[in-house]
Amino acid sequence: MNAYSIPVFLLFGVSLYAGMFHLLFFINKKENRENLYFALICFSIAFYDAMCIGLYNANSVLSGSGWQKGQYFAICCLGIAFLFFVFALTERKSTWLARILVLFMSLQMAAGLFFPNRIFDLQAPSIKKVAVFNLHVTYYEASAAALMNMVFTLTLAAIAYVFYVLLTSYLRQKRKDILPLLFGFIAYFISTILDILVASNVINFIYTSEYSFIILIFAMDFAFQKRFVHLFHEVKAMNVELEDRVKSRTEDIHKLLNELSIANQQLEDKNKSLQELSEHDSLTHLLNHGAFHARLAEMFNAAKRQHFPLAVIMIDIDHFKEINDQYGHPVGDRIIKKVAGVLLNSSRNYDVKARYSEEKKEVPVANIRKYDVAGRYGGDEFAVILPYCSEMETKIISERICKHINNIELKDTPDLQISASMGGVVFDHRVECHDERMLIHQADQALYQAKKSGRNQVVINVLAG
Ligand code: GH3
Ligand code: MG
Repeated sequence: MNAYSIPVFLLFGVSLYAGMFHLLFFINKKENRENLYFALICFSIAFYDAMCIGLYNANSVLSGSGWQKGQYFAICCLGIAFLFFVFALTERKSTWLARILVLFMSLQMAAGLFFPNRIFDLQAPSIKKVAVFNLHVTYYEASAAALMNMVFTLTLAAIAYVFYVLLTSYLRQKRKDILPLLFGFIAYFISTILDILVASNVINFIYTSEYSFIILIFAMDFAFQKRFVHLFHEVKAMNVELEDRVKSRTEDIHKLLNELSIANQQLEDKNKSLQELSEHDSLTHLLNHGAFHARLAEMFNAAKRQHFPLAVIMIDIDHFKEINDQYGHPVGDRIIKKVAGVLLNSSRNYDVKARYSEEKKEVPVANIRKYDVAGRYGGDEFAVILPYCSEMETKIISERICKHINNIELKDTPDLQISASMGGVVFDHRVECHDERMLIHQADQALYQAKKSGRNQVVINVLAG
């Protein structure tokens, strides 16, 4: 092999390697089309270099012109690949001029395939003897014919156009990564002019395109790398921003969740108080008529199933109308509250442990237990449910309540004596009864008896089947 072709052989290897590298990059990441075009440029340059090696080792014009034809096709491929690559790199839309250039290059290739004898003129050999750095090389060439001359013209036009596209991208889009490529193109442009002058025997010098090609490859790779690094930094910055955003969004979500849970809690509280309001009497806070009936129905069913006794007491304040008339409604209201208090407070004071403890201390006696149910039945009438109470126990509890009502005192009306009549009924599961309203009815009858018998007293009956 000619010593002069050794550096070109190295350039061939580098170009082939760069082409393979970028082709594989494209295969792995198809959306990066510029890698494909770059790979095509590298392969075209490798092909051109291979043709150069052949030409530099040729020893006849016939064989030399064969390699020259190869160079012709390599230049056409290179022009097309360059145009595609530059538009992909600058992210610009191709113009009509670019399309015309690609079309002409393609037509040139087709023309070269159909009319290979029009590329070089074998009848006009152009043997050049060149001596550079003590190296003597002889190019066994044929003179360029019409097609080759057209390719020279087209190549110069394509270089000028590509240079313009790169320059405007550099200036308008402030693409600093393009700058080395611009210098690469200037070198390529100069080497092409030189090669045309050498080919036309105007000057006696070696061909330099293959060296400017390698400069171009490095410049393009440099632009690629710059772009890649820039993108990498952008992605990194975006990640940091994304992390910050996710963090602040997460905080927002936590805040919203907190607010939501507070709102939920408030809603739950409101619902609870609404339920309380709907079930309780506003004046006494005892169960209202409807809620009392619902509880009575539940307890009545439980008593029937579990076989435990159940007592219902109706309490009605004596001569309440007169009290209202004499002392006024506000006093009447206070009495109603006090009577309710007798039922409520007594149940709260109930303390089982204290009652059975060894220590002898004053233990408040509860009128009703926590599981007993007290309600305001209407006006001055109250009702109490006492589960697990026999007739005797019901009587004791009722009389105790009666006594507590007697003890009610109002500060500003010390002379006012309050009393209530009470009628109760005790239900035993053995008695046939299917309706809890029967208990109310019979308790009412007992109350009537208590009123009739002189008020301020208790009448307890056992439910008659
Ligand atoms: P008796 O001994 O027969 O029960 O006589 P009484 O006057 O208590 O008769 P009754 O039970 O029928 O009277 C109930 C009265 O209670 C009538 C009504 O004006 C009064 N009253 C009802 N609800 C309220 C209330 O919320 N506040 C006040 N102050 N009075 C009420
Ligand atoms: Mg009354």
